[in-house]
Amino acid sequence: MNPIVLPQIWFVCGSQHLYGPGPLRQVARHAKEIVAAFSHERRLPLKTVFQAVVTTPEEVTRLCAKADADPACAGLIFWMHTFSPAKMWIRGLTSLRKPFLHLHTQFHRDLPWESIDMDYMNLHQSAHGDREAGHLHTRLRRERKVVVGHWSDPEAMERVGTWMRAARAWHDWQGARFVRFGDNMRQVAVTEGDKVSAEIHLGFSVDGHGIGDLVARVEEFDLSGKAVTALCDEYEGSYRVAAELRKNGTRHQSLREAARIELGLRAFLEDGGFKGFTDTFEDLGGLRQLPGIAVQRLMADGYGFGAEGDWKTAALLRAMKVMGEGNKGGTSFMEDYTYHLEPGRNLVLGAHMLEVCPTIAAAKPSVEVHPLGIGKREDPVRLVFDARPGAARNASLVDLGNRFRLLVAEVTTIKPPKLPHLPVARALWKCQPDFKTACAVWIYAGGAHHTAYSQAVSRETLEDFSVIANLEIVRIGPETRLEEFRQTLRVNEVFYHLNQGFHG
Ligand code: MN
Repeated sequence: MNPIVLPQIWFVCGSQHLYGPGPLRQVARHAKEIVAAFSHERRLPLKTVFQAVVTTPEEVTRLCAKADADPACAGLIFWMHTFSPAKMWIRGLTSLRKPFLHLHTQFHRDLPWESIDMDYMNLHQSAHGDREAGHLHTRLRRERKVVVGHWSDPEAMERVGTWMRAARAWHDWQGARFVRFGDNMRQVAVTEGDKVSAEIHLGFSVDGHGIGDLVARVEEFDLSGKAVTALCDEYEGSYRVAAELRKNGTRHQSLREAARIELGLRAFLEDGGFKGFTDTFEDLGGLRQLPGIAVQRLMADGYGFGAEGDWKTAALLRAMKVMGEGNKGGTSFMEDYTYHLEPGRNLVLGAHMLEVCPTIAAAKPSVEVHPLGIGKREDPVRLVFDARPGAARNASLVDLGNRFRLLVAEVTTIKPPKLPHLPVARALWKCQPDFKTACAVWIYAGGAHHTAYSQAVSRETLEDFSVIANLEIVRIGPETRLEEFRQTLRVNEVFYHLNQGFHG
């Protein structure tokens, strides 16, 4: 992941002064104990830091302002150990911009049946204290995640961890920069969009550069120099490199050119502090090959990418790289490419011209060079492999003109048969609930042909992300029914229009 930024989550406990200083000290001790337990919880990818027990409107307001101002804070967890009259939260929460999770837990798991008295009852009040808090969150129309369960409950911790992944990706997007080499593939609609609107609502910026800027950076690397040789050696150490591309092979120069493109592209991204990029085969200028292996390896290092100028997919892929970090399975740029329409066994073959990320590979990729019918350049070098079988999902971010919509479709990836003449990496999957429904609803929802494909990012993480980003999300999975889905789209049209007013 580049650059590595690991933000923190703040833990805040709500209370009041009604019960005196003794119980408040106990509340703070309990909150700290929960936070200490969080630090040993492998399901939580971010460090949680205990901040305070807040008891007055001034404290709440100060704390929310401090959270917004702290670049290391990716979000907050609120918990009302005791009753915290919620009017004192109004000022703080109306200004708070960071996402929050409402943890509905209780310090003691079991009731002490023999010893329970009113002191115990007054200390362990989240059952009604969190209801008071939740009422205000809803009254303020604050989007948040509510997680219910004892703090030792693995399922509850898994759900908190899922939210932390989404909060981290949102944090990563704020102020992020993506570079677009050239513009859009001419005439294409779905890869276009309102970049100003994206920056206003989603926090990242998309900046254009002429391809000449990249070509100049690539040409700073000597084709017969040490850096290129070292990278070619790295390719030979990491992948199965075709004989013709190896040292002394008849086409070794093609590998060197591909390595030079990777060096230049990586340097350009590092120089500019970019978190992802797009290119287009229609605008390659002095680049000798359409970048293939370079893009694939940069994606594997956590960069977002979208082909044909698709900056929305580049940004989404980066966000999903951040969400999935440390999880099993990979995440890649993907395109619904072609279908197998055998009755009773409909399948989608996903691929792209070159740019599929090797983090989703089932086995060691091979490095190959083949002609490319478009782009009018030399044959590009690429990694070829099959995607790992198992559950996966495709996500697409589209611009509907007045808002962005996130589509998430559950699929099941299977092992493809041998494809000896297919010169690109690929994934073969079954749709849910079935091929016809899945494709129809995707098309009704305006989903793109480009997606971010992942086995590392759960559907719940994407749902949490959509809540934090105030993004419409539509889900396609085992429960999807065509007519219901179309009705949801109609209802969403009204809801999001009213919800966003004139700010779209
Ligand atoms: Mn494409």
